[in-house]
Amino acid sequence: MEFEEFKQKLQKYTKQPINLILTTNRRIVFSFNRGEGNEINVRINKIFLNSTQGIIKAIAEFILRRTRKSKNEIKKFIRLNQDEIDRLKPVRRRKIFLFHQGVHFNLKEIFDKINNKYFSNKIDCRISWGKYPKKVKRKKSIRYGAFIQEKNLIMVSRVLDNDFIPDFFIEYIVYHEMLHAYFFNLKNSKIRLTYPQMQINFSGLKVKSKRPQIVHDAEFKLKEREFAEYERKKKWGKENLEKMLKL
Ligand SMILES: [Zn+2]
Repeated sequence: MEFEEFKQKLQKYTKQPINLILTTNRRIVFSFNRGEGNEINVRINKIFLNSTQGIIKAIAEFILRRTRKSKNEIKKFIRLNQDEIDRLKPVRRRKIFLFHQGVHFNLKEIFDKINNKYFSNKIDCRISWGKYPKKVKRKKSIRYGAFIQEKNLIMVSRVLDNDFIPDFFIEYIVYHEMLHAYFFNLKNSKIRLTYPQMQINFSGLKVKSKRPQIVHDAEFKLKEREFAEYERKKKWGKENLEKMLKL
């Protein structure tokens, strides 16, 4: 099947405009997110061009309703075509350098402590300080951290590597991002499909996300409150926001 034909069919079954991107990605075989406006961005391994009408219907159903049935059908197709997917040219991966040691805090130590205290050491992901932020005149908001699913990596803003930041505050930030890793792995560990992914450019403080943030659901928020010093960090964060914006 040609690109256009595939796209047309997907649009027909979803009844929505599709921005189709073919990839040779072997790990994330299929993902989608809502673009600006109505459009749905679909990134899919080019192997799917060989799929049948039924599979395209399943993809459409998964996009619209994420049903178990459609997911299983897609997974089955992936399994059947695994060899071919593996033969595709590997995508070039940039090596990730991890920075644990900051000037005031060691992120790995914090991660290990939180992992032990709240997660029975079950969270298996990487952590690093982000890049040094460029000086901006006046920040309007701060993104303290992010969990980057595709890289299984937590990044923490360098702004927090400051002696003015109390331990409980940075520990909370790490805890929060670890919760993202926890829920992501809980829901996705056994499948090769990944859910909509943030488009992340972690330069300085900016994390660009084209996806509407629906990741802090009720379950997440409940778990968030298990952090021992939750109220304290909330109060401190509010009281010191202005000061942090100037860091
Ligand atoms: Zn979050």
